Amino acid sequence: MSRIAYVNGCYVPHNQAAVHIEDRGYQFADGVYEVCEIADGYIIDMTRHLERLNRSLSELQMAWPVNKEAFVHIVKEVVVRNRVRNGLVYIQVTRGVAKRDHVFPEPATKSALVITARRSDPAIAEMKLKTGVGVITVPENRWDRVDIKTVGLLPNVMAKQKAKEQGAAEAWFVDADGMVKEGGSTNAWIVTQDGTLVTRPADHGILRGITRATAIDAASTLGLKFEERPFSVEEAKNAREAFITAATTILIPVISIDGDSVANGHPGSITEQLRSQFRLEVEKISVYR
Ligand code: PLP
Repeated sequence: MSRIAYVNGCYVPHNQAAVHIEDRGYQFADGVYEVCEIADGYIIDMTRHLERLNRSLSELQMAWPVNKEAFVHIVKEVVVRNRVRNGLVYIQVTRGVAKRDHVFPEPATKSALVITARRSDPAIAEMKLKTGVGVITVPENRWDRVDIKTVGLLPNVMAKQKAKEQGAAEAWFVDADGMVKEGGSTNAWIVTQDGTLVTRPADHGILRGITRATAIDAASTLGLKFEERPFSVEEAKNAREAFITAATTILIPVISIDGDSVANGHPGSITEQLRSQFRLEVEKISVYR
């Protein structure tokens, strides 16, 4: 079955899908995006993803490419046309196509919309849950508005490539005070020795992860102690457990940081408990019924 992409009003075969060379996303990274998980034929936490997209667009004074009802319809349609039951849907909005000039184009310039969907194997995520992953740390070198989910991801690309070259799955950005910010494409968490979940406050310094928000709801349902505060690399290395969250991976245990084991080097029980509760906590938007 060939994959289908949505590009500015048309559903086109994925291998022929293209945008204009003067799309501002291509020339200036002048665009924003969202990635939603699809699990068992449902889009997960779509309302939260759309709220965050709305915030990203308004922070950058960018218009919605189509109205919200049409938008939701197109997202579902791309999932259905690709027959994705487990995987992800990728949504990208840019400030549109215009003669290259840094300042905003004419107000009549339409935002550009690209949506793709692809399948993934849930067994791979399950395996990572059992084995856990390693992370490395890198100095923060991004701009200070990483709360806006822009397509300008070069520092994240470089950091994640470095992690891969060192046999790790993620790179944690660390601020000038030695405090962990977040991963290249995930939020960072620890569980302290007394069982308290800790993650950095979602101010301008990190992306307001949707999985992070739902994991906080899950922690509250389970009655787990929870603190929103920065934690250091040292504290993370000495933690009882550590894990990362993202729509693409949900919760994955972190078993080593810069090559040093976290606790006994095995995934912990609180991470597993939280991941199970997460599944019960999410909003599910049906695509196929
Ligand atoms: N932090 C960064 C830098 C990300 O790129 C992502 C996801 O792409 C996340 C955190 C996790 O966010 P979410 O849970 O919404 O996928």
